[in-house]
Amino acid sequence: MKNIRETFRDMTPDEMREASREAEIDEWRASNRFCGRCGAEMKPHEDPSERALVCAKCGYTVYPRISPAVIVLVTKDDKVLLQRNTHYRGVVWSLVAGFVDPGESLEDAIRREAREEASIEVKDIRYFGSQTWPFPSNIMIGFRAEYAGGELKPDGEEVVESGWFDREHLPKIPRHGSIARAMLDAWIAESCKGEREEAMRLFEKCINTNDLELGRKLISETAAFDTPVSPTPLYGAEGYLSVVSLMRKSFPDVQWKLLDMVADEKTVAVQWECSGTFNGEAPFAGLKPNGRRFTTTVMNFYSFDADGKICNDVAATGIAGILQGIGALP
Ligand SMILES: [Zn+2]
Repeated sequence: MKNIRETFRDMTPDEMREASREAEIDEWRASNRFCGRCGAEMKPHEDPSERALVCAKCGYTVYPRISPAVIVLVTKDDKVLLQRNTHYRGVVWSLVAGFVDPGESLEDAIRREAREEASIEVKDIRYFGSQTWPFPSNIMIGFRAEYAGGELKPDGEEVVESGWFDREHLPKIPRHGSIARAMLDAWIAESCKGEREEAMRLFEKCINTNDLELGRKLISETAAFDTPVSPTPLYGAEGYLSVVSLMRKSFPDVQWKLLDMVADEKTVAVQWECSGTFNGEAPFAGLKPNGRRFTTTVMNFYSFDADGKICNDVAATGIAGILQGIGALP
C-alpha cells in the first residue's frame, strides 16, 4: 500500500492543493484543541468565514500557521550540488533544504543551510517557485543560487554524502511531482539549451566557412541528409558540407546569418537569413547564372543525438525564396 507521501506525489497539482489544504487544516484543528495560553477548550470562530479557533475562556485566537522551508539548487559552472540525506529511504540525492528560523529572511536561511549542510557559501540567490508540503504545514520555497566559495563537505549528520554533478552523470534524483525534481528538470533543460545554442552558433560559422573539422565536431557521422542533389542520402559533415559547396558553385558568396533560434533539450529551431549572388559557374534549378541576388528567410529544425551532435536537419521553408530571388519563380 502506498503511504501518504507517495499518494500525494501521484496527484495532479489541483488535487495536491486541495488535499494539502484539507490535511493542513485537519492537522491544525487537531493540534489546537486547547488554548495555549490558559488551557481551556478552543471553539471555531463565530464567523464561519474566519478560519480561526477562539478560546472560550480568554478569547485567545489562533489561525492556521505555515512553516516556510527553503530548498536551493546550487550550481558551480555546469555542475549542480546534490546530496544524500540520512532521512531519505534508499539512495536518492537531493538539494540543500531546511526550515527558516525565527528572525531569518529566506535568503539568510539559504545561506545558513548551505553553510551547515554543505560547508559552502552561495551567492546570486534567485526565486524559482514554491510547493505546499502538508507534513504537517510546510511550504517549500525554491531558489537557485551560485556557488561562492568553500570546500564541499557533508555535515555527517543530516547529510551523509555530497558532490557536484554534471547533467550527464546525475545520480538517482527525486521523483516527478516534487519541487526538487522540478528545479532539477528546469536546470537540465536550461543547460541543454545553452549547449544547443552554442552548437548552432558554431554551425553558422561552419557552413559559412566550409570548415570540415568543425563540422565533424557538430554533425553526427551517421546523420543522413536527403537532398535534391543526390538520389541517396548524404552522410555526416562531409555530406552536409558537400551540399553547401554545391550551392557555392552557383552562389559563390552565399552566406547564412542566424537571425533567431529556439532551443530545447533535443531540438533547435533556427531562423536563417540566407543570401547570395547567382554569378557562379553552375546552373541552379535549371537556370543559368544571371547575376541576380537573393535574400530569403528560411527556417530549419535541427535534432541532436545523445552525444549532442546534429543528427537531422529539416527545412520548414526553403528553396522558394531562392527561386523567387533569382527569377525562376514569379
Ligand atoms: Zn485561553
